[in-house]
Amino acid sequence: KETLDKGLEKTKQSVFSKLTRAVAGKSKVDDEVLDNLEEILITSDVGVDTTLKIIERIEERVARDKYVSTGELNNILKDEIAALLSENNTQDNDNWELPETGNPYVILVVGVNGVGKTTTIGKLAHQFKQAGKSVYLGAADTFRAAAVEQICIWGERVGVPVVKQQMGSDPASVAFDTLSSAKANGADVVIIDTAGRLHNKIGLMNELKKIKDVMKKVMPEAPNEVLLVLDGSTGQNAFEQAKQFSAVTNITALAITKLDGTAKGGVVIGISDQLKVPVKYIGLGEGMEDLQLFNRKHFVDSLFN
Ligand code: GDP
Repeated sequence: KETLDKGLEKTKQSVFSKLTRAVAGKSKVDDEVLDNLEEILITSDVGVDTTLKIIERIEERVARDKYVSTGELNNILKDEIAALLSENNTQDNDNWELPETGNPYVILVVGVNGVGKTTTIGKLAHQFKQAGKSVYLGAADTFRAAAVEQICIWGERVGVPVVKQQMGSDPASVAFDTLSSAKANGADVVIIDTAGRLHNKIGLMNELKKIKDVMKKVMPEAPNEVLLVLDGSTGQNAFEQAKQFSAVTNITALAITKLDGTAKGGVVIGISDQLKVPVKYIGLGEGMEDLQLFNRKHFVDSLFN
């Protein structure tokens, strides 16, 4: 909770100071307050469509209750945003337990370079290991030498094995090797890195399809999670990437990084709503510990308290 509060500080302060200005001198939520609120949410990177949805719900509430004081606005916003997030299956995750399937739980990680993909994989490995699970990493971004190196560094730092092949080898083959080793060794979690070349959409689509098909040869249910990593500090860019990736493959969970040091934390709400995909993890710093399971209640509390 403290890390979250600290990480979301910039977003909170920005939203908060705008809110305070929006209701200054007003005791009742009226059209003018709602107009101001709409502008605040849009400029806080919640996105236009999601903002309109939230405003509409608050309007309904104001119409129903006749009188809503501006003092209640914070709590109303918290309620509406939490409700909105629960509509896309966002869970209040509070532990690192995994479903019992008898096989390792497989997370296929996608996202463009620079968003914090490798760091997120390292942090995930650390969190799962801390929770007593054995973890395997697969270096299936065989396109860049640096990607393989980086993931090996994280593997060493966290103390988990990394399965790799030489540069330029077939990513699906790396995925196959990783799943086979993990299964043979009774691992609990497998996390596979992939190359995020969005400029070649057909290539990326085929590559991810091939990786998934090959995974199923080892375990029919794999991948259990297709995790898209997005850089929260890029605001609207993250929205665009989210849309483009969901056109290429079926995304089942989101990790939103770099929420520390940005006032654009509102993207979490908008992206999840627009994509209908739950946010599962959030990145709040560069360190091993700076990844949290997303919890709706904690999130809205940190933003609006
Ligand atoms: P990749 O190219 O997507 O694999 O990106 P990296 O994992 O190498 O991360 C790119 C940069 O972002 C590195 O300097 C990371 O330390 C940094 N980074 C990743 N996640 C976070 C985060 O949650 N907060 C902050 N402040 N920095 C992050």
